[in-house]
Order: sequence, then structure tokens, then C-alpha cells
Amino acid sequence: MPCEPDGKQNNPKEPVQSEPIHLQSDHPKEECGIFGVYGVELASGLIHRGLFSMQHRGQEGCGIVVSDGDRVRSHKGPGLVSEVLTEPTLLRLTGDRGIGHVRYSTTGSTRIQNVQPLVVECVDGIWAVAHNGNLINADKLRRMYQDAGAIFQTSTDSEVLVHILADPMFRRRPQRVARALEELRGAFSFLIMTKDCVMAARDPHGFRPLSIGRLGDGYIFASETCAMAQTGAEYIRDVEPGELVTVDETGLHSSIFADPVTNKAHCVFEMVYFARPDSVVFGKNVHQVRMQYGSWLAKEHPVDADIVIAVPDSGNSAALGYSRESGIPLDFGFIRNHYIGRTFIMPQADKRAAGVDLKLAVVPEVVRGKRVIVVDDSIVRGTTVRHRVAWLRSAGAIEVHVRISCPPVAHPCFYGIDFPTSEELIAGGQSVEEIRKFIGADTLGYLGEEGLLSPFGNPNDYCKACFSGEYPLEVGGMGDKNRLESLNPELPFRQ
Ligand code: SF4
Repeated sequence: MPCEPDGKQNNPKEPVQSEPIHLQSDHPKEECGIFGVYGVELASGLIHRGLFSMQHRGQEGCGIVVSDGDRVRSHKGPGLVSEVLTEPTLLRLTGDRGIGHVRYSTTGSTRIQNVQPLVVECVDGIWAVAHNGNLINADKLRRMYQDAGAIFQTSTDSEVLVHILADPMFRRRPQRVARALEELRGAFSFLIMTKDCVMAARDPHGFRPLSIGRLGDGYIFASETCAMAQTGAEYIRDVEPGELVTVDETGLHSSIFADPVTNKAHCVFEMVYFARPDSVVFGKNVHQVRMQYGSWLAKEHPVDADIVIAVPDSGNSAALGYSRESGIPLDFGFIRNHYIGRTFIMPQADKRAAGVDLKLAVVPEVVRGKRVIVVDDSIVRGTTVRHRVAWLRSAGAIEVHVRISCPPVAHPCFYGIDFPTSEELIAGGQSVEEIRKFIGADTLGYLGEEGLLSPFGNPNDYCKACFSGEYPLEVGGMGDKNRLESLNPELPFRQ
């Protein structure tokens, strides 16, 4: 391919830049977001802005890699975009092309080496890789390369792509990137960069979103379209499942690296929780989909009450839909502290409890003496919603009716969302009535599967395995997000 590395290395006296980084352990988490630019001056500033608008997808660490066509420069570290990618850093990252990543560890631990983009210097040049998703055959590929003598620098599943790209067998093959992508199984939206080009690829099932935009004469790639809007780019289209898009000095080129699958497997949980309401994901505006979920909920689980309140922010749109459908007024019974992260994604249980206490506050004047319907996006372990029901009661609510804008989450995800095991998921072993009793609500209603899929033209194109247990791709021995680490317990750079 014209854009693959030209074999020239960075000047050895000027190695790939990587700032010293200090491990900070206490940031909240998400899944991942990726953002890429080609052909726009001061690309690092644009990537910073794009990542900032997708901070909700990952708060554990972030990074940027840029190229000016000659040299590649990078910076990454643990923490929020505003903490890691400071103005002086961005000014040093010169170039008109680059990729960036905000991270949450769906595989691999929170070690700094796992922060992306991964940057490697192969015999034929520099490659950088940013990944959103989860590869279900990463263990097998990793073992294969380790048996052959490869040394892995991280415990992420994403690194196997780097080893395939560096494999001499693949280096000799035409369309090397496409052939490498063919080896991967699972959920992946990738941005790949060399000195000369930026590539974007999406797995054949299309689990994770990835969009293409235009900015002047340049191109933008982003996990979510909200990042397009906030960088002034115009959304063009999504990267299609099984498509590899390459942008270089000759323009934008598309190729298909995998046979089409009968049914796609877009992650419906992007709609329920992860994506920002102003994004268009899988062709649908997230806010409007959540409004429809709320409306369905009101029809499926009506109840006499005085007010509807949302658990902000991800419950806002569904609460509005519930309120409009039921005619029960919407009010603000919870206030969110925006300066603490989203508690669902903190890795350790003690931090989860601490985060919940700080994240939301009840407005007693709103709920006192009222029959309250509280709309939330999902229940994972049940402890968080239990606390919230108790707070509402202690603030004077006389009835608390919980409505959840998705079906019970009873199964883990192996495609890039960090749910706990079935044993830890409250719906993994308990009925709705048992859950209601546990959380202390007067009534509890979940959105049904029909409502969950109702906004979509072809419901068969959506993955709903965490609700149904029907996995669109065989997951085999998956189950521990830190399993790659346990395969290689002697990694010398373990923190
Ligand atoms: S299992 Fe659930 S969270 Fe995972 S990809 Fe499927 S719908 Fe999304």
C-alpha cells in the first residue's frame, strides 16, 4: 500500500518522543474512544479537542501520536485529557496527521504501558495503533507470537495487531494491513498510523462505532460524531463493517478486508449508556433513541406518581421520554457533580462506593412528600441503585418507582464493555422481583427486548448478548479482563 512505512527510521538522535509519565491511580473509567486526523495543520490541537469531547468513553489514560510526514512524535499518560495533553505538550506535537485515544481497560490492567496509541518502530518504520473494542482471539495470537520469541510491551489485546503487522510473513504480503486485520476476531474499531497515512478499520460485525468526517481539505475519524461537531468537521459517513479506509497524499481509499456477515452486531449498549446523546451512532441520534426507550417504558410499566426524575446524565433522555408519554411532570430530583467521573467504570469496589457518595445529590425540596418515578439506564450490581432509592426515601419521597431503560443485564460482555461476571451481575441470578426487594423500590420495571430494539430498522443487526446471553461471536475461554496479564506474569515493567 502506498502509505505503509517507507523503511526510513526516525533520526536515531531524535527518537520518538515520549514524555516521562507518573502513574496516577485514581481516575474513573469508561470504554475507549479514538480520534484521527489527516491533512489538517496543528493536528494535535484538533485531536485534543476530539478526545476531550469523548472523555466520557475513557478516563483512565489518553495519548496522541502525530506525524509531519518525516518524524513521528507522541505523548501519553494516565489521567484525563485536560491533565495529560497540556498546551506546551501539544505545541511540541507538530504535524498535520495523527491519532489519539482515551482509554478504559476492558482488557489489561491499568498499567501505564497499556495507555494508547501504541507506538512501535519496526524494521520498515513506525506504526501507531489505537483500538476501541476487544479481540476474542488475542490470547491465542499472543501465545503464538510469544512462542516464536516476540516480546510484548503491554498486557492489552490491541498489541497483537502490532505484532502481526511486524511479522515478516505479513510484511511481504500485498495489502498487508488488510491481511493482518483478517487475522483478528472480535470487536474492533482501529485507527492505524504511519508517517505517511492514517487508516481506519472496523470489524465485520460493526460492534463499535467509527465515523469519517471532512474538515477543509482534510479528513477526520472519530468513535462518536459528537467529536466531529466539536472540531468543526462535517460528518460524511461511517466506516463500514469490514472496511479499511486509508487516507494519504493521494486521497481517501476504501477496501473491504472481510466478507460481509449476514447480520451485523452493533452494540446496543452504546445507545443505552455509553454514547453521548448528541452523537449519531449506527445511523441513529442517541438522544432520540433514549427518548423512545423512555416512551416504551411508560407504556410497558405505567404507574401513578407525582414526578419523574432522571439519574443524570445517562438517564436524562429516557426520563424525558417517560414523562412525555405518561404526562407525569419531569423534575430534577438528582443533581450531578460533573467533576467526578462515572462510577460504573471504576475498577475497585471501594472506589465505586466512594464515587457514588460524591457523584449525586438529592434535592429534598423536589422529592419530599412525592411519589417519585426514577429513570436510570441500567442496573449492574444493584448496590448503586439501592443507595439511591434509600437517599430518595430519606429525603422524604413517599414512594419510589424505578424504571430502567434496558432489559436486565445478566451476562458479561466480551466485546469491549466492562461488565462484571454473571455471578456479580444482580440480574445474573435474581428475578426482577428479587431485585426490586434488594434495591428497596416500591415497583421496578425494565424495558423489554422489543422496546430495546424498536428504534432500529433491522433489529437483527444489533448485539444484545449481555441481556440475552446469545453471543454473536463465539467467545471460548474469555472471561477475565486481566487474563493477558496472567499469561505473562513475569513482565519486567509490571508496576
Ligand atoms: S454484549 Fe452487550 S455491551 Fe457487549 S457488545 Fe453486546 S450489547 Fe454491547
